[in-house]
Amino acid sequence: MALKALDIYKLLPKKNCKECGDPTCLTFAMKLAGGKTDVDLCPYLDEQAKSVLGATTRPPIRLVKLGVGERSFAVGEEFVLYRHDKTFYHPPGIFFRVSDTQSPEEITAVTLRVRDESFTRVGTDLRFNGIAIENASGSPDAFARAVATVEESADLPLVLISKNTLSLNAALIQVGSYQPLIHAATNENFREMCALAKKYSCPLVIKANNLDDLAGLAKDCVAEGAKKLVMDLCPQSMGDFIIASTAVRQLAITRAVPDLGYPVFIDATNPLLQDAAISLGIVKYASVIITPPLSAASAKAALTLRQNIYTDPQKPIQMNPGLYRVGTPGKDAPVLLTVNFSLTFFTLEGYLESTRIPCFMLIVDTEGLSVLTAVAAGKLNETLVRDSIRKFDVEHEVSHKMLIIPGYSAPLSGRIEEATGWKVLVGPRDAADIGEYLHEEWKKIKS
Ligand code: SF4
Repeated sequence: MALKALDIYKLLPKKNCKECGDPTCLTFAMKLAGGKTDVDLCPYLDEQAKSVLGATTRPPIRLVKLGVGERSFAVGEEFVLYRHDKTFYHPPGIFFRVSDTQSPEEITAVTLRVRDESFTRVGTDLRFNGIAIENASGSPDAFARAVATVEESADLPLVLISKNTLSLNAALIQVGSYQPLIHAATNENFREMCALAKKYSCPLVIKANNLDDLAGLAKDCVAEGAKKLVMDLCPQSMGDFIIASTAVRQLAITRAVPDLGYPVFIDATNPLLQDAAISLGIVKYASVIITPPLSAASAKAALTLRQNIYTDPQKPIQMNPGLYRVGTPGKDAPVLLTVNFSLTFFTLEGYLESTRIPCFMLIVDTEGLSVLTAVAAGKLNETLVRDSIRKFDVEHEVSHKMLIIPGYSAPLSGRIEEATGWKVLVGPRDAADIGEYLHEEWKKIKS
């Protein structure tokens, strides 16, 4: 049962020393109660208090940081089975796989692609996350050379994949300070793997064929001092993966099996099912996804799906309200009003760009609601429009007083005219028709 903040506070040493990163012990207790910090951050707790607090206050799925520096990111710390219950917090990292049997040129090309490629969607730059290097040759020297080739081109999070601890050691001498994810510890080699993970403070993938063995292995690795774990469920098929990853998520978030409370790894290498396996990983709880470099179409699909699944369903993606320019509008350019729901903004902006008529977009704050919803909820109203025109100084940007409003807000046209003194023109309902509207209606009005 979860402890309340006050019960937790009673167990703390109350030095108020801030070493845990919180200003007071009470703040730390409140964060612990919400599963937002880790009991290990207080160095003054004795082992007994730690084990009592740890069992009830740790996030049910541990947060594991991958890599260091600008492109590092964290996975895990999820709380729900279904996205609509709250949200999913930490999107999976997608790693492009290379092998130490490839030429340095091939490895560098993949590395540079992950370093530089980005795709902008609804105002966000979407990127792949890192490089997974496989020790296919089995040779420590070849592995170390391949890892050094990647490291020379980019500071990206890495996954080192090898069964050979000598190879991993040779690679870690090159890149240990970047804290790569090591793949993988098994029941046979976990002591050596944990020793490497501990020496370089690296996260470690553990793998086993069933959940009981995986939970036991996690316990053994933690006892060896390797606490930053990721779990490879070793599925034999996609169906297997769905069953195992769903069971892991359920058992972890209900704390029924706390030893399964770690992020999940999936290898989506199968060339026939690669797109399906990546999609499955994204929607069904994978936190680390390994894939060969993707075609442009598959890359876009994977990044789009990940963005959609990891967007908070309770918070519409919003634009900052303001006056935006499309092209270089002059004083006689049209002014189009719309809401700050980002999908509306980017859809309309795209159509406006293709009209090649420079214009202004007046974006008003409807708290991220779409036009229809904002009108129905009273969020889009004449007062908001009047205040926005004043706030963003629209009168000084144009030499006319004509405002094009979205077709779905037509019922507000009279009230907006009265409140603002601007002539209101009702635009089309569908953004796709804005080009035709501007070319025909606006040009007629202006001539
Ligand atoms: Fe309190 Fe421990 Fe944090 Fe110090 S490190 S403020 S004793 S909780």
